[in-house]
Amino acid sequence: MSVDAAMAEPAKIKGWCPGALRPMQTGDGLIVRVRPRCGALSISQALALSEIARRFGNGHIDLTRRANLQIRGVQADALPGLWAELSDCGLVDDNAEAEAVRNVMLAPLAGVDPTEMCDVRPVAAALEQELLTSEALWALPGKFGFSVDGGGIASLDDERADVRLKAMRAPGGVRIAVGIDTVTDVAWMGAVELQSAHVVAVAVAMEFLAVSEGARRVRMRDLAPGDVDRIRRVVASHGADPFNAEAPVASTSAPYLAADLAGLMVVRGAVVAAGIGAPFGRLEASALSDLGVASRDLGFAELRLSPWRMMFAPVPNRRCGEAILEAAAACGLITTPRHPLMSIDACPGAPACRSGLIETRAIAARLAGMMPLAGISSVHVSGCAKGCSRSASADLVLVGTPTGVGIIRSGTAASNPCAVVPPGDLARLPSLLQSGS
Ligand code: SF4
Repeated sequence: MSVDAAMAEPAKIKGWCPGALRPMQTGDGLIVRVRPRCGALSISQALALSEIARRFGNGHIDLTRRANLQIRGVQADALPGLWAELSDCGLVDDNAEAEAVRNVMLAPLAGVDPTEMCDVRPVAAALEQELLTSEALWALPGKFGFSVDGGGIASLDDERADVRLKAMRAPGGVRIAVGIDTVTDVAWMGAVELQSAHVVAVAVAMEFLAVSEGARRVRMRDLAPGDVDRIRRVVASHGADPFNAEAPVASTSAPYLAADLAGLMVVRGAVVAAGIGAPFGRLEASALSDLGVASRDLGFAELRLSPWRMMFAPVPNRRCGEAILEAAAACGLITTPRHPLMSIDACPGAPACRSGLIETRAIAARLAGMMPLAGISSVHVSGCAKGCSRSASADLVLVGTPTGVGIIRSGTAASNPCAVVPPGDLARLPSLLQSGS
């Protein structure tokens, strides 16, 4: 469905994996997911997006775990106008099928991180172009994703991907390692030239479609070992150097914890970027507008998105970095490392989401005031057992249940609570945790 066709038809509203052209209904209206190309939002796009969110939505914007943005609170009759404006600023694809599979996550400091092995932005751009134009790839499942990583400090190692492309040092120079996520680990398949990496990634995706035809397989990790071998042979057929399984594809320096990335990023003595966190991933349109204006005044070209509910502004020097952080702090955004709010994931919950059984954001804000809690470095507050904002295990999970707030230790939102308490009892959480509840 093209943008024009989308505008001519009644809104197609799906209950999963929203896009700009396929929005999803939630408690506060439709979610419209915007996927900036290669995870970069030009300053003019940032300013336009803040205005679009204000005019066509309720002014709330989410930063997602797949490095996208979501405009919230859109009504169905506002969609044609919203699509037209997104199209004008290059923030929507030509059709919904291509948009649904253009899931390429790029390391957010690509091209500005002095520790990366090479600038992998051309690889990501070429791969996105293939996904947009090769109709055969539009059969990929909506959650199927690619990551492209230059091997620097802001590494994507801990983020899920079906196909990974990662720069590595090899005897003949820098190569791109090709890997797939299996149920237990990453299976690295071989190393190829930078120029052919996107072609190999496409071949791997096509082989995934071939082996999963007729089977209910939606992610690489669903494949059987024999299927993984088939993919390995496809990579080898593209002239890949066999990968030495004894040598892990490591980043040049120990990857930062996401919580460390807020604030000035000093790499090898130079300030290269400013990391700006959004509490629980919520960015108000007014904050994006203020950031956009400050970035424009400082002469910045773009803001980068990341899977950590943070944005990065590449900066030329400390003075510019401090100036943008000051502007971000004035908008209520997080500009210091290890901020307690950065260790808490919270979905929109009630009342924004129809499935929400608790007011997640209010509970999470109270919880931040109690941090640090002994033995707990990651917290997930989920409105229900679906756990949309975090699929990985957390040290502490508070989940909405029909009878109160479920408390889970070392689990996911779908785990069985060890106790269920009324929201008003959460003031006693530190003692409840100490008593083993
Ligand atoms: S986890 Fe439940 S309450 Fe939270 S956003 Fe997802 S469906 Fe809504």
